[in-house]
Amino acid sequence: MVLMATGKPLVETEIPTPQPATGEVLVEVMACGVCRTDLHVVDGELPDPRLPLVPGHQIVGRVAVDGERFKVAERVGVPWLGWTCGECRFCRSGRENLCDHARFTGYQRDGGFAAAAVADERFCFPIPEDYPDLQAAPLLCAGLIGHRALRMAGDAERLGLYGFGASAHIVCQVALHQGRRVFAFTRADDEAAQAFARELGAEWAGDALGPAPEELDAAIVFAPVGELVPAALRAVAKGATVVCAGIHMSDLPSMPYELLWGERVLRSVANLTRADGEEFMALAPRVPVRTEVESFPLRRANEALDRLRAGKVRGAAVLVP
Ligand SMILES: [Zn+2]
Ligand SMILES: [Zn+2]
Repeated sequence: MVLMATGKPLVETEIPTPQPATGEVLVEVMACGVCRTDLHVVDGELPDPRLPLVPGHQIVGRVAVDGERFKVAERVGVPWLGWTCGECRFCRSGRENLCDHARFTGYQRDGGFAAAAVADERFCFPIPEDYPDLQAAPLLCAGLIGHRALRMAGDAERLGLYGFGASAHIVCQVALHQGRRVFAFTRADDEAAQAFARELGAEWAGDALGPAPEELDAAIVFAPVGELVPAALRAVAKGATVVCAGIHMSDLPSMPYELLWGERVLRSVANLTRADGEEFMALAPRVPVRTEVESFPLRRANEALDRLRAGKVRGAAVLVP
């Protein structure tokens, strides 16, 4: 399913099977998660995507041709971080997620909305055996980025999650496992998401723009809505961190400095490192994280994107070739 031009639906297209270069593996795609970032790419909210482009960066694949690191039939995950330079000041200081020259899967490299994909082996992960293909796919971005965002939230006991989609439904489980208390903030009328959050163990779920039921020690904003940032800052205690986990967000509204005062910290989380991936893939089965997925045949990718855009997906959407 190929993006020919931003702002247009994907087009079902026959393309030649990609050929792996040295250091790359060819994988048969078993499942590929649909992430909000895919929507931002398709909708033209991120600059300069490769075009035409195969989107998709939560690929669970089976190795089709032996590589150096992975052998035929092994199951690998291909995440958003597809390549880094290894030489810039960020790469040299353990911050490859910020690499000046990074290339991202399903953005600057073809991704997994296809029957086959190639990936740089060094950036792939083994998939934990406990997870079937479909359930593993959302771990690769929703899970990884959520995990990184949760780490940035520090040891907060009362955690607010703003937007309860693919990432939050995973973070909620990890946070509870760590003994935190979870509060889910959604659109006021999104009763389905609120019920889903409560089912997963959130002790409260309600209107993101209304008052929080009690003071929070940290918040993670997953929804790409700038006005949630002052709402989250208003909800957290002194010294708390508000983490923005998305790659794109509508403009932040002007707000009184008082919301930030008291050593509150506002920060974003960008991309992932390979270390995040390894850490989270080891953690997920121990929690154990159970991902809830809505699966779609690959050729119905546009429908999956539309449902995600409309906030109708329960858990994560996954495409199956
Ligand atoms: Zn670099
Ligand atoms: Zn993603």
